[in-house]
Amino acid sequence: MSEIFELCDELGPEKVIHLQNVQAGLRAILVVDNTAAGPTIGGVRMAPDVTLEECTGLARAMTLKNAAAGLPHGGGKAVIAADPTMPAAAKQTLMRAFAQAIRLFDDYVPGPDMGTNETCMGWVSDEINRAVGLPRVLGGIPLDEIGATGYGLAAAAEVAQDFCDLSLDGARVAIQGFGAVGQHAAEFLTNKGAKLVAVSDSQGSLMDPVGLPLSELREMKRAGRSVTVLNRGKVLPDPAAVIGADCDILIPAARPGAIHEGNADSIKSRLILEGANIPASPEIEARLHARQVLVVPDFIANAGGVICASVEYHGGSEAQAMQTIAAKIRHNTAAVLRMTCEQQTTPRQAALNLSHERVRDAMAMRRDFD
Ligand code: NAD
Repeated sequence: MSEIFELCDELGPEKVIHLQNVQAGLRAILVVDNTAAGPTIGGVRMAPDVTLEECTGLARAMTLKNAAAGLPHGGGKAVIAADPTMPAAAKQTLMRAFAQAIRLFDDYVPGPDMGTNETCMGWVSDEINRAVGLPRVLGGIPLDEIGATGYGLAAAAEVAQDFCDLSLDGARVAIQGFGAVGQHAAEFLTNKGAKLVAVSDSQGSLMDPVGLPLSELREMKRAGRSVTVLNRGKVLPDPAAVIGADCDILIPAARPGAIHEGNADSIKSRLILEGANIPASPEIEARLHARQVLVVPDFIANAGGVICASVEYHGGSEAQAMQTIAAKIRHNTAAVLRMTCEQQTTPRQAALNLSHERVRDAMAMRRDFD
């Protein structure tokens, strides 16, 4: 049997499609993993070295994330093998050719991912009237501008505080990565009474146990400067130093693998909210769990963006998106943390169990083909 079937299991993928348009220079792959809960939503990744395995893995991650978020959507993903820094005119031609190539696969709704953005989704929508993450002028909800993911992280924190004997009021927060996710998480958590005591960006870490001024830090970033330039507190050249900061809540919101063998034992926080995707391996998370550090896993805590995209797809407003994010993330965080206690497992395993159960339940509603 062809090795392509080695990528299949009981959940999917339902379709793996190779797309090529020689004239437009388009070489792409579409994976529709599982449509039991509804049409799939997933980003379009553009990079020169994308692979079938990567696309299949990312499509499955979207199936589980959408199920964990309780959305009426399955998971899908597309990759385009190209350099995303190409001139805008060439990129427009390529995105329009991609849109035409997926026109008939209406169980896949594309969104932005690495190498594509809202403008790209505007071109896709112009061709096939089907995309999320659109520019505001086309009815899109700009998720990074409104802080969808940071808002969701704060909602997860509100629920998690009761599971780790913590009060958000006065809780000390450390954030690695001060971009769209990190800045908004800081804003929404400090609005709930928390205190920002450490931040980092790619240039280094800044710590002050007395508390850091959020608006000044954001002003720094808006001006294109590093948080370390702020003349305040202690500056450390290592961007990863923030991981070991004296704090109650740690939010990795930068890159995958930020918490690893070399720094996991230095963590002093009681609660970790995973803003970035896969900031720690399941093994490292299990080690933290054994030390009674509560880790709310990425696909539960950082689902604000995809929930926002789903609300946009169904024609909802920005206010409805925020309401839905808070309601769904609170509900799902509580469900996962309760299951963690009941099943005596890690939060990640409980979250995976919850997602698989929801996908299987949705599949059971579908017509049987035997
Ligand atoms: P961003 O580009 O706006 O910000 C990233 C920040 O991280 C920048 O401040 C950058 O200086 C900093 N950074 C980079 N390398 C660093 C390092 N080694 N140490 C410390 N800081 C570092 O990105 P974002 O949209 O805020 O996303 C952050 C992470 O969250 C990414 O991994 C992304 O995949 C994930 N994520 C984002 C969303 C979303 O809605 N934007 C949703 C889910 C997951």
